Amino acid sequence: MKFREMKTQEIENALQTSIKLGLNKDEVTKRQRKHGFNELQEAEKQSALLLFFAQFKDFMVLVLLVATLISGILGEYVDAIAIIAIVFLNGILGFFQERKAEKSLDALKEMSAPQVHVLRDNKWIKIPSKEVVVGDVLKFASGDRIGADLRIIESFSLEIEESALTGESQPAVKTSEPLLFDADGIGDEENKAFMGTMVTRGSGKGIVIATGMDTAMGKIAHLLQTAETMITPLQRRLEQLGKVLIATALVLTVIVVLTGVLQGHDVYTMFLAGVSLAVAAIPEGLPAIVTVALSLGVQRMIKQQAIVRKLPAVETLGCASVICSDKTGTMTQNKMTVTKLWSGGKTWDATGTGYAPEGEFLDGERAVSVQAEKSLLQLLTFGMLCNKADLVRKGDRFTLDGDPTEGAMFVAALKAGLTREQLFEKFTIVKEFPFDSTRKMMSVIIKDEAGKHFVVTKGAPDVLFARCESILWDGKTAPLNKEYQASVHREMEGLASLALRMIAVGYKPLAAGHVVLHEEEAEKNLTFMGLQGMIDPPRPEVKQAIKECREAGIKTVMITGDHVTTAKAIAAQLGILKGKEKVIEGKQLNDLSFEELEEIVEDVAVFARVSPEHKLQIVKALQNKGHIVAMTGDGVNDAPAIKTADIGVAMGITGTDVAKEASSLILVDDNFATIKSAIKEGRNIYENIRKFIRYLLASNVGEILVMFFAMLCALPLPMVPIQILFVNLVTDGLPAMALGLDEPEDDVMKQKPRSPNEGVFARGLGWKIISRGFLIGVSTLIAFYIVYRANPDNLEYAQTVAFATLVLTQLIHVFDCRSERSIFSRNPFGNKYLVGAVLSSLLLMIAVIYYQPLQLIFHTIAIPARDWLLIIGMSSIPTFLLAGSFLARKSK
Ligand code: ATP
Repeated sequence: MKFREMKTQEIENALQTSIKLGLNKDEVTKRQRKHGFNELQEAEKQSALLLFFAQFKDFMVLVLLVATLISGILGEYVDAIAIIAIVFLNGILGFFQERKAEKSLDALKEMSAPQVHVLRDNKWIKIPSKEVVVGDVLKFASGDRIGADLRIIESFSLEIEESALTGESQPAVKTSEPLLFDADGIGDEENKAFMGTMVTRGSGKGIVIATGMDTAMGKIAHLLQTAETMITPLQRRLEQLGKVLIATALVLTVIVVLTGVLQGHDVYTMFLAGVSLAVAAIPEGLPAIVTVALSLGVQRMIKQQAIVRKLPAVETLGCASVICSDKTGTMTQNKMTVTKLWSGGKTWDATGTGYAPEGEFLDGERAVSVQAEKSLLQLLTFGMLCNKADLVRKGDRFTLDGDPTEGAMFVAALKAGLTREQLFEKFTIVKEFPFDSTRKMMSVIIKDEAGKHFVVTKGAPDVLFARCESILWDGKTAPLNKEYQASVHREMEGLASLALRMIAVGYKPLAAGHVVLHEEEAEKNLTFMGLQGMIDPPRPEVKQAIKECREAGIKTVMITGDHVTTAKAIAAQLGILKGKEKVIEGKQLNDLSFEELEEIVEDVAVFARVSPEHKLQIVKALQNKGHIVAMTGDGVNDAPAIKTADIGVAMGITGTDVAKEASSLILVDDNFATIKSAIKEGRNIYENIRKFIRYLLASNVGEILVMFFAMLCALPLPMVPIQILFVNLVTDGLPAMALGLDEPEDDVMKQKPRSPNEGVFARGLGWKIISRGFLIGVSTLIAFYIVYRANPDNLEYAQTVAFATLVLTQLIHVFDCRSERSIFSRNPFGNKYLVGAVLSSLLLMIAVIYYQPLQLIFHTIAIPARDWLLIIGMSSIPTFLLAGSFLARKSK
C-alpha cells in the first residue's frame, strides 16, 4: 500500500512511530546512522589543489614564469629560483584569501539553515531540519518551509506553495485524508508535503516519509546546484575596471620597455623588467581582497546579530536613506504582558511581568477572585482557547513557544488558575482559522461538553468590533446600540493612549449541525466580549539607534498593524515623530492613489493599521522618490515588500522561512538597533574597500612611474625585476588586507548616505590615487638619482636605496589611506593588524637588504645607516604634502 492511501494508524505502523509521542532519541540516532542526514548532496567543490593552481593561471604570471625559465636556462639560476619563489608566495597568499572568502560564505549558509518543529520523546522541540529522520512527526504553519517529504496527518486550512517542484505559483490546497485515486504527479499528492516547499496558509502536522536525496527535491537536486554566486555592484564595477587597469598597465609597461630599449638598455633585461613590472602593477589581488573585505565585514555583522544573505546588500546598506520598520518586536521588546482587561463596562488590572504565570487581578486596589467575576473568567477562557502559544519552563525561567500576543493572553489565563488541559477536558477544538495579518483576526470553532458549538474570535479591536452585532454586558447579550458602541470606543482610545496593544475577543453560538467552512462566515455577527490590553515596552537601545540614523541622514518610518493611538504613543517615546511628520492609517492609504501616496510619503513617519500589502506600495512610493529603502517583515505576506525593497530585512526569531528567503538581511535578534549597526558596518566595509583600492592603485602607479621616469631621463633601471616583485608582495599582501579590517572612522554615521550610482573613484579617490602615485614615483626616483650621481659605478647601491624608498613610501602611505581626511585625523596606529602587517613587511625589507644570502638573491647591498635619513625623508614627503594640503583646505 502507498502512503497516500493509508490511514494515520497504518502510517504509524509502517514507519514504526507514534504521532502522540514521536520517536525517541535512540531510535533517531539509529535511523540517522542508517540513512544519514536529511541533506541534499552539494555539487563537488573546487578542490584545494585546483584552487591553488588557479592562482597561477593569470596570463602575465605565466609569461613571467616562462621568461624566468628562459633566464634559468641561460644560467641565471638564482634569479629564476627567487622569482619562482616569490610568484609562489603570491599564489599562496591569493589561495588563502580566496579560501577564507569561500569558508565564510559557507558559514553564512549554515547560519541561515532552516529549522523544524519536531515531536521527540513526547515533546515538541525545534531542531535544524538536517537532523530529521523518516518517521519523525513534524508540525508546521503558515510561513514555514517544509523540512522533508511528509504524509500530512492533520491540516487546518492548509495551503502549500510548491512552485519549486511543480512550477505552479498558486498554492495547492492540502488535506490529511487518505486518497484512493492514483497520483499523476506532485500536483496530485494532496495529502503530502514536500521538502523545500512553503506553507502559505493554515497549519498542519505530518509524518516524515522521505529525507535527503530520497525526497522529491533530492531527485531534482542537481538542478538546484547551479545556484548563482552573486557579486556586488562594486565587484562588478571593479571587474570592468580591472580590465582597463590591466590594459593600461600593459601599455605603460610596453612604453617603459621600448623607451628603455631605445635608450640603449639590453633587450632581454628590459623584457624581464617589463614583465615583472606588469606583474607588480596589475592589481590582480584586488578582487580577492574585495571578497575578503566583504566577507570579513559580513562576519563582523554576524557578531552584531545581522546575517547578510545576499552579498550585494552589504554595499546597498551603506546607501540606505529610509528604514521602514515593524514596530512590534523590532522597536519594542515583544515581551507582552496583559495589564488591563475590560468587559461589559468593567476594568481590571493584572499584575506580574514577563511570562511568569504569577500575578493577580485587581478591581481598583482590591484583588478579586476570577471565579467570582464571570465576564473576566470568560474573557480569559476564550483568550486561552483561541490561542496556539505555549509556555516552556526551564528551571525557574519561562520561555514562550509561539506568538507573544497569544503568549500574553495565555499567561493571563494561567494567572487566573486556568490551564489548557483542564479546558480541553470541557472543550474540543473542531476547526481553526489561523491568524493572518491582513484579516488581523484568528478564530476557532469549539464544542463544549453538551455538544454545543461556538465560534471564538480574537483580533484587532476595530476590525473585530466592526463584525459584532451584539455585546456581552452584565452577563447578558444586548444589541450593540450607539451607547455601547461609544463606550467600547472610549475604552479602546483610553487603552491605546497608554501605549497598550489591544486584542478584542468575540464569540457566537452556532446552530446545531451548522457547518462553517470559511472564516468569512465564522467571523461575522459576533458578540463583543471584551478587550485585553498588553504592554510591550520599547527596546531600550532603539531610541539611540533612531537618533544615530537621523544624524546619518537616514529616516526611520514605523509601520505597524497596531492601533493608531498605540503606534503614535510609542513613536513619540522613541523620537520617530518629530515636528511636522505625519501619521497615516491603512484605511487612508486605501483611499489614496499611488501618485497621491508618492506626494506625501516622504512626510509620513508612522503608518498604523496597515496590512502587509500596503508595505509594498510604501516601498515603491519611496523608491520612486529616489530613496534606497530597507524594509523589515516577518510574515508570508511581507515577502513581496521585502523582495522589492533595496534591502529586505527579515526577523530571525519571529520571521517565517518565506520572509527570510525573500530577504537580503536577517536580524538574529529581531532588533531595530541591529539594522543601524549593519548600516554602519555596511558603510565601513565600503570605505575599507575604497581604502585599499586607493592604497593598491596609488602604489602601482608609483611603481610604473618610477621606472618610466627613469627611462625617460635616460637613467639605468632603478630596480631589478626581483626587487619589483618583492615590492608587489608588500603592496598586494598583508598591509592591503589589514586595511580591509579597519575600524570605521568616527564620522561614518555623520555622513549622508552614499549614492548607489557612485563610481569607484568618486569623492576625489581618483585624484588621490594619481597624485599620490606620482609623488611615490618621483620621490623614489629622486632618492635613486641622488645616490646614483654620487656613486655612478655602484648601481646596486642606488638600486637598493630606490628599493627601500619605494617600499617605505608605500608602507607610510598605507597609514594615510586609513582616513578620507589626513593621517593625523585619527590615531595612525589604531589598526593593530595594519601595524603588524607593516612591521613584518619592514622586517622582511631589512632582511632583504642586510642578510647576506638574501642580498645575493635580491641584488641588494648593505647600505650605510646615514642613507636611511634620505630614504625616510623621501618616503615621508608625500604624506606631509598631503597632510599640509588638507590643513590648508580646512583653514580656508
Ligand atoms: P507590526 O507590524 O509592528 O509587527 P503588529 O504585530 O501589530 O505590528 P500584525 O502582526 O500584522 O502587526 O498584527 C495586526 C493586528 O492584528 C495587531 O495589531 C493585533 O491587533 C492583531 N493580532 C496580532 N496578533 C494576533 C493574534 N495572534 N491573534 C489575533 N489577533 C492578532
